[in-house]
Amino acid sequence: SNPTADLRAAIRSIPDYPRPGVMFRDITTLLGNARAFRRAVDELVQPWPGAKIDKVAGIEARGFILGGAVAHQLSAGFVPIRKKGKLPRDTVSLPYSLEYGLDAIEMHRDAIDTGERVILVDDLIATGGTATAAVDLLRRIGAEVVAAVFVVDLPDLGGAEKLRAKGVTVRTLVS
Ligand code: IMP
Repeated sequence: SNPTADLRAAIRSIPDYPRPGVMFRDITTLLGNARAFRRAVDELVQPWPGAKIDKVAGIEARGFILGGAVAHQLSAGFVPIRKKGKLPRDTVSLPYSLEYGLDAIEMHRDAIDTGERVILVDDLIATGGTATAAVDLLRRIGAEVVAAVFVVDLPDLGGAEKLRAKGVTVRTLVS
């Protein structure tokens, strides 16, 4: 069977959420489907079998769920990239604009050592504002960003292209 068709069918689309005119791609149905969840994680890590990946960085909140599973699969550590104000120790932070407004993301300054090889994970890339800020944050603390991986790409919004223009290897499963 075609893995992409399976994943596509497991994603639910909600019109006019969170505001009129937006088609929200809801991956909670994919996460709740045992076969699709396993397949998504397997496909996300497929280019890096046996590669030494030190850390997987996941973007709050759905990037935590996928990123935890990806980290386990790669025998890597997991690092949360969070919305502003949620992490208890010294943080580095960056403001970013997202599809629905403006925000800032943060990570612990000591979460990653200089030169560590990191894969960034989120559920979806739209404008790329969130992921671009995450890559900038990771690079600022000396991480080597091996790849950024997403289950869903909204290609019309150009985020994946924007990341590639910054020299990031991007992997997406469903457009
Ligand atoms: P971007 O910063 O414009 O690329 O937006 C991506 C971020 O917003 C990710 O963290 C996504 O989880 C979230 N996001 C934007 N649009 C959607 C959607 O249609 N479904 C689920 N998450 C979305």
